[in-house]
Amino acid sequence: MTKGTPSQGKRNKLLHTTCKRCGAHAYNMRKKFCAKCGYGKSKKVKDFSWRSRSLLGKGNRKK
Ligand SMILES: [Zn+2]
Repeated sequence: MTKGTPSQGKRNKLLHTTCKRCGAHAYNMRKKFCAKCGYGKSKKVKDFSWRSRSLLGKGNRKK
């Protein structure tokens, strides 16, 4: 097993495709859920506070 250029030819399995809900190329075809918004896994759109932080908010100071 090599990790060089010859092994790049094995990368032919599509794992992620465009998500129907968020449009990101993060929908996992094997697991049947979107890695970005959680489509297929939950009805709610996946959202984290650390991902979408407001400009003026708690703990957003520059040091
Ligand atoms: Zn999605």
